[in-house]
Amino acid sequence: MSDCIFCKIVEGKIPSKKVYEDDEFLAFHDINPAAPVHILVIPKQHVESLKDCNESHAPMLGKLFVKLAAIALDQGLVDGYRTIVNTGRVGGQEVYHLHAHILGGPQPVGPMLVRR
Ligand code: 5GP
Ligand code: ZN
Repeated sequence: MSDCIFCKIVEGKIPSKKVYEDDEFLAFHDINPAAPVHILVIPKQHVESLKDCNESHAPMLGKLFVKLAAIALDQGLVDGYRTIVNTGRVGGQEVYHLHAHILGGPQPVGPMLVRR
């Protein structure tokens, strides 16, 4: 996808602070962190969002979360972290290339959502 920011990061056309990379996945620091540790984990393959996934994406999604857990540990988040996948307009997705956020401490990251 030529106009996708995260595809450009995968291709090295936009710089990022990488923390992990393999053939299928890339993890890098969020440019506008919402917690002391804020990392994005993305598949290199362009998939717009979780709602565009089907059975054929199941192996990729499984690996994404296993890699995410290893990356979080590697970043020292031994006491836990929050994982968020914003999906579509209602989910507040800003970048339409599937990604999972890792948000970590040292302090608890706070309530999941503000109740209203
Ligand atoms: P979303 O709301 O789509 O789940 O989150 C997109 C995230 O991507 C946001 O937290 C935003 O700060 C981050 N982001 C947007 N553009 C860039 C960029 O060019 N580089 C990096 N590292 N993060 C970005
Ligand atoms: Zn993309």
